[in-house]
Amino acid sequence: MSDCIFCKLANHEIPTNIVFEDDLVAAFEDANPQAPVHVLVVPKAHYENIIDDVPAETLGAMANAVKEVARIKGLDEGFRVITNKGEAAGQTVMHLHWHVLGGKTLGEGLV
Ligand code: 5GP
Ligand code: ZN
Repeated sequence: MSDCIFCKLANHEIPTNIVFEDDLVAAFEDANPQAPVHVLVVPKAHYENIIDDVPAETLGAMANAVKEVARIKGLDEGFRVITNKGEAAGQTVMHLHWHVLGGKTLGEGLV
């Protein structure tokens, strides 16, 4: 997707603060962090959301990236992973991403 910001960020077409990457995914700092640690795990290929026929290998690579982000950021006390699907859920960037939030005690509620 030539006009997709997360395609460009995940594939180094626009410089960003990459925390971890492999062949399939990149993890970079959110531009508007909601917690002391707020990293986005993003596939390098374009999928709109979590139910956009994402290959199991890519979902596995995303899960591994979460583990690496937690290790690199020292999130030993815990962290939260969120993905929004659709505008009603608050999705604003239509390229699949998982938010990894931590570095403080998070609220008990999910919404
Ligand atoms: P959503 O609301 O779609 O679940 O999350 C989109 C996230 O992307 C937001 O947390 C927002 O701060 C982040 N974001 C939007 N544009 C950019 C950008 O250009 N660079 C980075 N690093 N994050 C962005
Ligand atoms: Zn994209």
